[in-house]
Amino acid sequence: MPLRMSTYFLTTLRDNPNDAEVASHQLLVRAGYIRRAAPGVYTWLPLGLRVLRKLEAIVREEMDTIAHELHFPALLPREPYEATNRWTEYGDNLFRLKDRKGNDYLLAPTHEEMFALAVKDLFSSYKELPINLYQVQTKYRDEARPRAGLLRGREFIMKDSYSFDVGDAGLDVSYQQHRDVYLRTFARLGLEVVTCAATSGAMGGSRSEEFLHPTEVGEDTFVRSPGGYAANVEAVQTVVPQAPSAEAVAAIPALEVRETPGASTIAALVDYSNEHFGGGFTAADTLKAYVCWVVQPTGEREPLLIGIPGDREVDEKRLEAALAPAEPAAFTEEDFKKFPQLVKGYIGPHGHGEKSASGIRSVVDPRVVDGTQWIAGANEAGKHAYHLVAGRDFVADGVIDVAEVQEGDPAPDGSGPLSLDRGIEVGHIFQLGRKYAEAVGLKVLDENGKQVTVTMGSYGLGISRVLACIAEANNDQFGLAWPKHVAPLDVHIVVASKDEAAFAAAESLAAELEAAGLEVLYDDRFKVSPGVKFKDAELIGIPTIVVIGKSLADGSIEIKDRKIGEKRSVPVSEAATEVIAQARA
Ligand code: ATP
Ligand code: MG
Repeated sequence: MPLRMSTYFLTTLRDNPNDAEVASHQLLVRAGYIRRAAPGVYTWLPLGLRVLRKLEAIVREEMDTIAHELHFPALLPREPYEATNRWTEYGDNLFRLKDRKGNDYLLAPTHEEMFALAVKDLFSSYKELPINLYQVQTKYRDEARPRAGLLRGREFIMKDSYSFDVGDAGLDVSYQQHRDVYLRTFARLGLEVVTCAATSGAMGGSRSEEFLHPTEVGEDTFVRSPGGYAANVEAVQTVVPQAPSAEAVAAIPALEVRETPGASTIAALVDYSNEHFGGGFTAADTLKAYVCWVVQPTGEREPLLIGIPGDREVDEKRLEAALAPAEPAAFTEEDFKKFPQLVKGYIGPHGHGEKSASGIRSVVDPRVVDGTQWIAGANEAGKHAYHLVAGRDFVADGVIDVAEVQEGDPAPDGSGPLSLDRGIEVGHIFQLGRKYAEAVGLKVLDENGKQVTVTMGSYGLGISRVLACIAEANNDQFGLAWPKHVAPLDVHIVVASKDEAAFAAAESLAAELEAAGLEVLYDDRFKVSPGVKFKDAELIGIPTIVVIGKSLADGSIEIKDRKIGEKRSVPVSEAATEVIAQARA
């Protein structure tokens, strides 16, 4: 039976919802695929659910080649997450709740603990390994900024899998299997991805890659080099410049504190220096001071002073990645008042290696190698220090690689200058190692009868996010234009006439198409104008649209390719054959 629009649970909207800024969000709501239930939480309407099921089916088919599917609850007790410390470390992103007896529960943001415990429960020998397990599951994260509909939700659907091996070599194999499956899956989904080196963030672990889908609406920035290097900016390691020679350093004049009235910004400092101290100064000669709080998952906070070359900004995401599981927080005017040693606009590297001198931990960019000289604040209003030499005049408490990556910076592997693009993470694979297995006591007996901790990998693929990415990459001013393999249905039949004959022709065509295995949406609405029906068909975006209207009197119907926009007229007698051919092409 075709799905009949007259009785289907579908209402399209003329206007974009107020809260929707990106096309996929606007169109998925307007075309009746999803409805907002709460910020970052969406209801799947019948059309949306059909697309979701298709994506899941593709993901499952590919995953089934390497893994076994199971299904965990989303509502979980606190204890396993306590064992790995994630009850705390996950911070505000974790939805925590209590049952009627006052016991703590959570809505799972990811399931490492549960998978590890399940394997611990059922397996005890190396002979049972390796094994890959997966689920397709609803995840919960109280994201600080849910946005763009399904792209960043607080409830979303993820395929997550986990590998269990004895030793690192086994993990390498499981990791590679997942990598291959991911690339095949994204290819089948028709979604362009760039495989980027990534940080493992709060998860710990070693090797890690993200599959980023290049799109303007993405919140991630990634880099690529001509030589094939690709990485999320979070993971780019700055190429450390060679330290100047001893002779060169010896030739640098002694540190000198100079009056620089009003030069409280880098631009003003460069201008002032060029005007008063000879030309040739650029922002790259200065050391910019950036102060923030470092907030531990326990809530403990400590101020941090970061020194980076003045021609760069601190990249918030790199900062977050560098501090994880702690988080940065803004240092306010009020905070500055509490630390009078931090003279805003004139802050320089404090402490000469002794944190105690200023009471504030001071770290610098990797470019601040020993022997490099800088102009930095002198920690007195209206004054800067010139010829301030790293290692000679100050020693920081550590190095932090959080300055922004700029177009043209060298790739860390020497493969050429980097270019920057925006993208969104659709998948993430990483080698967890033994951290989680250790935390929950997941061990097996090895060949020698000795207990060994199992080595794990963890692999996520955001199915609801992928759906939104496909919608984002496949639309035009009229609406969605689904690729065939994920479209909610194959053919959309529109009756653009009030003649009984047109409805009869539509019924029989629908029956023939269905008999051939195609899924049909049939716009059988009697009182709706052809214009409205056409608009709906364009908005909904089913790949093949059939119009049965006036030309039926001459024995022809119209077949349209939604994506290309191409229309052609075919005789009614050949309609089914033609539509089947086009829908399967
Ligand atoms: P992001 O950096 O975008 O916040 P993440 O690093 O938190 O993602 P993972 O923990 O690696 O994501 O989760 C695995 C996959 O789940 C991601 O690759 C992404 O496709 C998906 N995902 C993560 N968070 C969300 C979300 N809030 N809404 C929809 N999908 C998400
Ligand atoms: Mg990730």
